[in-house]
Amino acid sequence: MTSPERLGAPPGLCGLCVHARSNTTRRGSTFLRCGRAATDERFAKYPTLPVFSCPGFEPR
Ligand code: SF4
Repeated sequence: MTSPERLGAPPGLCGLCVHARSNTTRRGSTFLRCGRAATDERFAKYPTLPVFSCPGFEPR
């Protein structure tokens, strides 16, 4: 997982979750991507941070 400083917002639960990935653009912006979104439409591909509650959370 990337550092909260690079995300621009504290990630909350996503920062501790096994499903979190980070994407960095060529311009240097970093986004946190939810790996569950690919197979479960309940989850946003790019969750609004910080996430305080999530049914898909699994600790790393
Ligand atoms: S499952 Fe929930 S807590 Fe985990 S990365 Fe996705 S949105 Fe974040």
